[in-house]
Amino acid sequence: MKNVYLAQMSLEIPGSNYYYFPYSIGVVWAYATTQPGINENYQLRNIFSVKEPIDQLMEKIVDPHVLGLSTYTWNTNYNEELARRVKERYPDCKIIIGGPNTPNRSEGYFESREYVDYLTHQEGEGSFTALLQYFVGEYELMDITGISINDAGKTIKTRPSKRIELDDVPSPYLMGLFDNIKSDHPDLIFNGVLETNRGCPFMCTFCDWGGTTFSKLKRFGMERIALEIDWMGRNQIEMVVNSDANFGILKDRDVLIADMLIETKEKYGYPVLFDTNWSKNATTTLVDIAVKLLNAQMMRRFTMALQSTNPDVLEKIKRVNLKEEAMTRVAETAFANNMSVNTELIIGLPGETWESWTSGLCNLLSRDIIVEAYPVTILENSEMGDPVYIKKHGITTTTLKSFFSNHVDEYQIMLTGTSTLPESQMKKLWLWTWITSMMDANGYTQVVSRYLNKRYDVPFEQFYEKLLDYGLETPNSAFYPWLTKWQGYAAEMEFNMFLAGLTYSPVMQSLGVDNREQTYQDIYTVSRTFAPDDELLHDVMIAQERQQTTFDHDDISHVTLGANVYEYSLDKVELVEQPTEYVFHKAYPPAGTNPSWVEWYNSTRKSKKWQATVKQVKEKSTLLSEFG
Ligand code: SF4
Repeated sequence: MKNVYLAQMSLEIPGSNYYYFPYSIGVVWAYATTQPGINENYQLRNIFSVKEPIDQLMEKIVDPHVLGLSTYTWNTNYNEELARRVKERYPDCKIIIGGPNTPNRSEGYFESREYVDYLTHQEGEGSFTALLQYFVGEYELMDITGISINDAGKTIKTRPSKRIELDDVPSPYLMGLFDNIKSDHPDLIFNGVLETNRGCPFMCTFCDWGGTTFSKLKRFGMERIALEIDWMGRNQIEMVVNSDANFGILKDRDVLIADMLIETKEKYGYPVLFDTNWSKNATTTLVDIAVKLLNAQMMRRFTMALQSTNPDVLEKIKRVNLKEEAMTRVAETAFANNMSVNTELIIGLPGETWESWTSGLCNLLSRDIIVEAYPVTILENSEMGDPVYIKKHGITTTTLKSFFSNHVDEYQIMLTGTSTLPESQMKKLWLWTWITSMMDANGYTQVVSRYLNKRYDVPFEQFYEKLLDYGLETPNSAFYPWLTKWQGYAAEMEFNMFLAGLTYSPVMQSLGVDNREQTYQDIYTVSRTFAPDDELLHDVMIAQERQQTTFDHDDISHVTLGANVYEYSLDKVELVEQPTEYVFHKAYPPAGTNPSWVEWYNSTRKSKKWQATVKQVKEKSTLLSEFG
């Protein structure tokens, strides 16, 4: 029997012990086992999913006949280095690389990678299997579709392959392919990857997933899906991540899948959480499913991946979003069910301008939608990676070392400018986006910015731009060290240093704990420039600071303010200028846990569970005055 080794190295977030099962390569092998010539000739010796020093990994690979590697942006170079080392030690081993980051434009690929024998393009199941059959004389090489062949350094590309029928693909979970992964890595937590359908009818130009090849949606059988979900429950998988491009698009069927997930959680206590990409056009179903999952506490929030709110950008990136009315309905339903709503945006896409980006983002914030903004990574096989598209939109790029480098450095191509947002503007836009989303999402400014907007028509964009400029120009401000640091990154085009989440902890510790008083004083100083004579403003700041719980706050604090500033700022009520008493109940970490403030904030940022409960009260209380 010939030894097969496979690897799909998981995404690893620095500092996190959450990993993903190597689903894609698992499903490739699962399919192969159903085809003639495989089981009688090959045995799968190991599937690797956790990066380790390559010397160490090499000791686990013995007499390989085939090494199959699934590649994406976080493991491309690791895979190639592993391939090089394996070829060096075992020159007869066939090295096959597939996965989304395998270049479809493969001309020249093998010139510098003589150790790679074949690339598989797009769906890998059929072409990988055919290669294995060819190695044992059961297939003609040139009959294999969807591959690139290393012909002494030259590329021979065969014609594109047809899509496979998903009914033919067994589940790698149910075959036991991942049974050892958890026990081999007891210190790591593995998220389950669920695939209920494959394909996407949309064609977003930044994405390597949709497009004409995969526009037709193909479905996995419901029985297979049910058994996989049950496997995840029995195996105590904490989080299931759905790899469908548009969950909810298949309406009744997707409702049934949500029901299965909920029933499985009721039965086993697992999976605890479910995460997915939502459909862009199935509003009613989408809300139904989201509410069900929320009620089962399987979703922490509802995330709408909008990428941009500018119609011109959406046209240029061929993106379809939920319609405005539908989006509002989804958000309102989510809020009515105490669910926070997040959106993911991509900063600086073709067609975006300073005005469109800042007003679009502030419009979302004003509707209490939490914004996460990401830089544009230009993916190998996306339309945006096509030189013609790059030229057409005046795209400039830089290549950066990835956050996901571990043992071997990985690189990403990042967009740094377009014809509508040149690099010089993009640099400031990054800082503006960082301070705006950071301040609003974490409760530093959302009361005072809304107060100024409502009472004095101060646009949110302007409020945050002033805060940014003040922070950059005022060396003793709490923001100065961070903004100047980020400004340095922006100057170097190191845009990925701004990635949401990764840089939050030290910043939050600095602004929210170590320099808390200065942070709020800075915000107050900037706010006063918009309303220098407003005597209520310091009361607004008290409300602002008090509702961002810290563990130092009293469990319950009574505050008398000069008006109903809290409701006025956040709700649709008029300002009533008379002494108004509030009681603030600080928020707590869950019973039995003892996180630091920063840990707690990081875990509640997107659900807004950090907010103190604020109520108006009638009885007398003590006046607290913290800003003067
Ligand atoms: S981003 Fe999502 S909707 Fe757009 S093409 Fe890719 S998978 Fe489809």
